Amino acid sequence: MADMKRLIDTFIKYTKIDTKSDPESTSTPSTPGQLELAKIVAADLKAAGVSDVEMGEDGFIYATIPDNLPDGHPAKGKVPTLGFLSHLDTANEASGANVKARKIENYQGGEIAFPGNPELKLNYDNAPNLKNCIGHTIITSDGTTLLGGDDKAGLAVLVELAHHYQNNEKDLHGTIRLAIIPDEEIGVGTEKLDLKKFGVDVAYTIDGGVMGEIDVESFNGFMGKITVEGYPAFPGYGKGIYINAIQVLAKFIAQMEDKRWPQNATDRDPIWWIHTMNAEVGRAEASVYLRDFDLDGIEEQKKILAGIKEKVQKEFPKAKIDIDIKETYKNYKYELEKDPRVVDYAEEAMERIGITPERNFVRGGNDSCHLCFSGLLSTNLFVGMQNMHSVMEWVSAETIEGSLNTVISLAKVWVEKSA
Ligand SMILES: [Zn+2]
Repeated sequence: MADMKRLIDTFIKYTKIDTKSDPESTSTPSTPGQLELAKIVAADLKAAGVSDVEMGEDGFIYATIPDNLPDGHPAKGKVPTLGFLSHLDTANEASGANVKARKIENYQGGEIAFPGNPELKLNYDNAPNLKNCIGHTIITSDGTTLLGGDDKAGLAVLVELAHHYQNNEKDLHGTIRLAIIPDEEIGVGTEKLDLKKFGVDVAYTIDGGVMGEIDVESFNGFMGKITVEGYPAFPGYGKGIYINAIQVLAKFIAQMEDKRWPQNATDRDPIWWIHTMNAEVGRAEASVYLRDFDLDGIEEQKKILAGIKEKVQKEFPKAKIDIDIKETYKNYKYELEKDPRVVDYAEEAMERIGITPERNFVRGGNDSCHLCFSGLLSTNLFVGMQNMHSVMEWVSAETIEGSLNTVISLAKVWVEKSA
């Protein structure tokens, strides 16, 4: 049986190893702590009865939980191979060294103070989901480091999944492949994942937030350049001749509506922003980023920029203004629509065990996005992490448990629907 105490103990054991990834590093994994943790996870998977654990010096672990369908079962040989992924590393925004996880059992609501950081308090403003976790065991760091729920909770779920299947033949499943990846936070993990070796039909990352969350959308991401060529001349005698590219570009940017800048947008609002500028009198350029959940919205943003160009051009007819925008990534909902089972079955799996599923959209790109456009349909499922990438990170033990039960239920749904 899945053992909830062991699940949480495993999670806390993993938080003790510093696995912060390093974007400056050229090696994989980018930091030695990740390899140290990978070795422990590989050993834990073996101890949980997984016989083919394969770990490379790059920290990637691939492992199989063979199907447990009896001969003659109507779904035998017909269930798509499911892949589950979680990552070893923690984010850069906060320290991951000497993490001192602590448990608050039977949380009764209200503020939570941090032993190592008296100024810090978790409350319903900065952690609104606490309201839904009354009676749960809340786990935080001491307030001086992140916790590492992102994504060591996911690692613990996959290890406990293996234990569960070792002792519980009633919970049927097809072939399951596990992939433990390094350097997810620095955008390397799923890029270096060997999809052929992974060999799965559908993938779920166990790397999400609140109970019931299924991430089914990302932004469409486009980026480009606004370039202005001016006409430098001796300023004292510049009348009628002089065109300053910096001034033209500044006028352009000033006309980009405020409501679309990141600080003013939320929910399903589109955003745009200028990321870098390089400007001299003769030539000025700015990199511009566009984000919208719908491609039509991206087209609208392009049209608005073209309108601004026209207006500024009228004021400076001799300046040469160019806009060049290209796609970086697309919303993966367009890929998931090709096989609605991926998300529908995850929802059904949660409903069957009393968890209310919630389709969520991510205001950025994510691993599912990358995997979907690499040809592997994928979505991200909750594991409970909250306030991630910060010293106020927390998880509820019951939500980690809910994640494990969701995975077990999901494997069953795929079996039943494949029969
Ligand atoms: Zn993560």
